[in-house]
Amino acid sequence: MAEKIKGRTEIAELGEFGLIDTLTAPFKPSHKSTIKAVGDDAAVIEGSRDVAILVSTDSMLEGIDFDLTYFPPKHLGYKAVTKGISDIVAMNATPEQITLSLGISSKISVEWLRDFYSGVEFACREAEVDLVGGDTSASVTGLIINISAIGRAKKRDVVYRSGAKLNDLICITGNLGAAYMGLQLLEREKRVLSGIAEQQPQFEGYEYLLERYLKPRARYDIVKSLAAEKIVPTSMIDLSDGLASDVMQICKASGCGARIYLERIPIAKQTSALAEEMHIDPVVAALNGGEDYQLMFTLPLEARERVATLGCIDIIGHITAPETGAYLVTPDGSDIKLKAQGFPEP
Ligand code: ADP
Ligand code: MG
Repeated sequence: MAEKIKGRTEIAELGEFGLIDTLTAPFKPSHKSTIKAVGDDAAVIEGSRDVAILVSTDSMLEGIDFDLTYFPPKHLGYKAVTKGISDIVAMNATPEQITLSLGISSKISVEWLRDFYSGVEFACREAEVDLVGGDTSASVTGLIINISAIGRAKKRDVVYRSGAKLNDLICITGNLGAAYMGLQLLEREKRVLSGIAEQQPQFEGYEYLLERYLKPRARYDIVKSLAAEKIVPTSMIDLSDGLASDVMQICKASGCGARIYLERIPIAKQTSALAEEMHIDPVVAALNGGEDYQLMFTLPLEARERVATLGCIDIIGHITAPETGAYLVTPDGSDIKLKAQGFPEP
């Protein structure tokens, strides 16, 4: 372990969320138009009497968030848009515009960028979002992508991380862990190609996992379904960091605890199959994998029947009192404490 230097705090000591808290604590909004500043999936700004404007920004860095050796440019463009608009969707709002800024290294060609932008265009058309600006500069440290997204919602429909109430149901869309297993598959292929591993690359039967990692779709369809059923969740977050971390974010913002039932976490067949093949626990993939871009939301108990009409929603647990903490309940009845980042501890 590196020796601690006096007067210097390492970022690892605070963690990502601790760092953001420390840096942003001194900033108190000075404008009445700032309805919600730092701390949710997107900032909420006064639009008109009944309407709020939502703003979020996200970066993707080569070597940290993606690897160009196996990420097709078209898919990367598509995924960048998904990452950007998912935070707007997580506020129960409709994304309407994005700006896209790039830091471009010399290994990137115009043809590569055209392909990247065709993915951006495809995602924008699909999500009915306008590209309205950006910035282009050079980078010596690999490709840098930044997407800012702007959306709109009726003020009374905006859903924060902070509204979960005791006994609320915890619901999620889709299934979890697939993107993480898609990434594991691509990493394995990369090792094979570089001659480090001996096994042959095996993509057949796992196309769904690759799609979930390379071309995830933001769940803007859910915002429409919720509106059609006149359901307004009490809290919501997009599952970008992994279920464990994102449950903890809801608990922290809402001042509550949670119980998640392991056997209720939806995991696709392909996710379990590849996890078994690669000796990975599929539940760990779902809890800590991240990048699922599904939505997790809470609803009062009495909405149970109405949420069933939405389809593709699973109730995986419920909200508890703050002093009980956030736990994963295993089928044999033992409780595992969830940790905000990383692995659950017994
Ligand atoms: P998400 O994973 O949903 O994109 P993050 O975990 O990145 O959200 O950020 C949590 C909150 O902190 C958001 O409200 C975000 O706008 C804010 N935030 C993150 N980094 C910074 C920063 N460097 N300065 C100010 N606010 C930040
Ligand atoms: Mg988010």
